[in-house]
Amino acid sequence: MVKVGVLALQGDFLEHIQILREIEGVEPVAVKRIDDLKGVDALVIPGGESTTIGLLLSSRGLDTKVVELAEKGLPIMGTCAGAILLAAKVADRVVGETNQFTLKLMNIEVVRNIFGRQRDSFISTVRVENIGLVKGAFIRAPGIKSAWPPARVTGYINHPSIGEIGVAAEQNNMLALTFHPEITGEKGVYKYFLSFIKR
Ligand code: GLN
Repeated sequence: MVKVGVLALQGDFLEHIQILREIEGVEPVAVKRIDDLKGVDALVIPGGESTTIGLLLSSRGLDTKVVELAEKGLPIMGTCAGAILLAAKVADRVVGETNQFTLKLMNIEVVRNIFGRQRDSFISTVRVENIGLVKGAFIRAPGIKSAWPPARVTGYINHPSIGEIGVAAEQNNMLALTFHPEITGEKGVYKYFLSFIKR
């Protein structure tokens, strides 16, 4: 049995827990405080509101612990707001530099709300390196504008109004997806992420 922590401060953590429960050999655990991280083999940071999750992460002292574990090689997957929280650099499509709190674990630059407002949300199929075709829900999603070593972009979409933009990236033990695989039930994403545990 592998224990997969799902950061449960805000956002759609329940959907991640549910899909992980359906994968054999996985025990999902909700992570609300430092103690909940004890013994986890991997961690998922869900979508939601990256500013809110960031504030809660730092006010509970979870940020330092997560960074420490990531640096020791704990596999971490961030989806949507979770991808923003992993990024070294964040801007917003409308307001520019956000100066918001992030864990700065991945060498990626993301642009929040790059596809527009809530009404501009959509579902699209993406080819993600090492995973294959993935159907993802893009809900006020960010885009990955650039990545520098050791991070690299592993999936792009070609959007009618903004053109080609990164939507998946990998850096050693970390995976960032700017969409929601939990909403479209994409178990393949989780199976690939879980393979990081044995790396
Ligand atoms: N727009 C949100 C943010 O910037 C992310 C949305 C999501 O996680 N679905 O934090």
